[in-house]
Amino acid sequence: MEYIVSARKYRPSTFSSVEGQDNITVTLKNAIKNKQLAHAYLFCGPRGVGKTTCARIFAKTINCLNITPDFEACNECESCKSFNENRSYNIHELDAASNNSVDDIRLLIDKVRIPPQIGKYSVYIIDEVHMLSQAAFNAFLKTLEEPPKHAIFILATTEKHKILPTILSRCQTFDFNRITVEVAVEHLKYVAKKEGIEAEEEALNVIATKADGAMRDALSIFDQIVAFTGKNITYQQVIDNLNVLDYDYYFRLVEAFLKEDLISSLLIYNDILNHGFDGSHFINGLASHFRDLMMCRDSQTVGLLEVGASIKQRYLEQAKLCDNDFLYEALRITTECDLNYRTARNKRLHVEFAIMSLSRIPTEKKKLLN
Ligand SMILES: [Zn+2]
Repeated sequence: MEYIVSARKYRPSTFSSVEGQDNITVTLKNAIKNKQLAHAYLFCGPRGVGKTTCARIFAKTINCLNITPDFEACNECESCKSFNENRSYNIHELDAASNNSVDDIRLLIDKVRIPPQIGKYSVYIIDEVHMLSQAAFNAFLKTLEEPPKHAIFILATTEKHKILPTILSRCQTFDFNRITVEVAVEHLKYVAKKEGIEAEEEALNVIATKADGAMRDALSIFDQIVAFTGKNITYQQVIDNLNVLDYDYYFRLVEAFLKEDLISSLLIYNDILNHGFDGSHFINGLASHFRDLMMCRDSQTVGLLEVGASIKQRYLEQAKLCDNDFLYEALRITTECDLNYRTARNKRLHVEFAIMSLSRIPTEKKKLLN
């Protein structure tokens, strides 16, 4: 049996199944409910967070012949079916990253004039709209100023600051959030369950963290892991596959730093290098670890910690053992090491010296006080 790529198979088909963008889906639904559709929308936000997905759902919903009382597409009428089977004539997508010339836009403008045969609206999605050439932008502006009644434009961009003010002022803007690790993990759990895949929570957490706020990336990394490991995903397999350093190393290092145990610290670092990780990757991860510990020091910032429930407890416990002075000094040392890593001639010694400094924080503090 061929494994269907999750990002495609589990693409949401209604507003309510879109993850992590509640503000946007609620507002779009309200616009449909109140019959207050704009002619142009601008969807901004990082890649892989659901901009195109929401645009497609919106296009489908406003053309649905039998919209539900909850203002969702019915997914059963002829129009919805044609959308779901990618054969609807009411939706047109242009990827401005590869079609950014005046001619591409002129072709689109010609199409816009023709009213749809079936359904009420023709929806034009222009992805990566900031990539349009200046001339293409200008050609498009006229149409955007006086669009035909049946036409709705949804412009999507990852780089809002590159959109001309003349375009911005004509669009209703929606800012999409990056997906939190928590939301991504929940979605991966759902997909795993549907696919009959057993997955350790920490394994999914590493995948979600690696995806860095993009659901599409989280799903494609998930697929990659499934292809390698089959129906049972463990934390160990994931960190091996993704070349992620086990966070256990960081916890052990901090324990050693607190005890001023220089020998153990250097040996742990040696072990990390022997596993094929490079120093810059390591020091970056260590800095993030200190950052996370700092966030755990206060109940108001603990929410900024993006880790799974089981590991969170370990962070909270370690954070109790560190005081703010220690963490501040540790962050200073690690960020400085990271900053100068590229220019350091002896990279191993450069990191080792940072480790030596980290192993002497309490002693150095005492010296200063005397
Ligand atoms: Zn329908």
